Amino acid sequence: MSLRSFHHRFATFAESTRERRGREVHGEAETPASGSRWRRRLTAVSRLYLGGERALVRRALSDPYFPVTKYWRLNAEGFAAELASAPISPRRLTRRMAFHLSRWARTFLAIRRDLSLLRQEGRPAGVKLGGSPQEGLPEGDWCDLCGCCCEIRGGPPDFLHGFVPPRRWIRYFRGDLSRDQRFCPFLLEYFATSAFVCSIYDVKPRCCWVFDREECAFLKADLARERAAMG
Ligand code: SF4
Ligand code: SF4
Repeated sequence: MSLRSFHHRFATFAESTRERRGREVHGEAETPASGSRWRRRLTAVSRLYLGGERALVRRALSDPYFPVTKYWRLNAEGFAAELASAPISPRRLTRRMAFHLSRWARTFLAIRRDLSLLRQEGRPAGVKLGGSPQEGLPEGDWCDLCGCCCEIRGGPPDFLHGFVPPRRWIRYFRGDLSRDQRFCPFLLEYFATSAFVCSIYDVKPRCCWVFDREECAFLKADLARERAAMG
């Protein structure tokens, strides 16, 4: 499997997912052609894996909250384009990206499972993720849900309000999941619309609470400067 082929498979899958989920959000019926195109592209990505791992990747990528856009932009394409990745051979880079995707899929599904268990126990950690676009998005107020403030490798996992998280969340938030991780694993995407939500908003760690409107404006100005410098 060449790097180019991995890129192509994932990029076309992401494009097809955006098209499919966009229809769902607008209440449009799926056409047989677009449905089978999406399934073909999902199969093309999952074929990189064998057995249980293949099923796991398939399940995660089929979830309407998998952060497909950010995953592609940061953990795959962005990671490969970084200066530090330049000395890595394309073959090794592909292997790393494919491995990272399956690890991310596993983590994503574990967090989804934990969130649903917590909800059943009457301890919801954040927004309801019932899988229906009719649920709508949380009110963003001044926040446009770009998720840029969640592009972090990790942080101190001091969850608030006396909340005792599942043990693995400590590792996830600390950034131990993978050295190739470029954003927080608790960040989910709403139906591939590039709107991102914190799945543990109500109990998120202290460092996330202190990020306020002023810091957001600062971060956005910084990003705008960076983009302008890149032309
Ligand atoms: S960077 Fe600002 S606008 Fe974007 S998600 Fe964070 S708080 Fe919201
Ligand atoms: S815990 Fe939530 S707010 Fe904090 S970085 Fe992760 S997704 Fe963002």
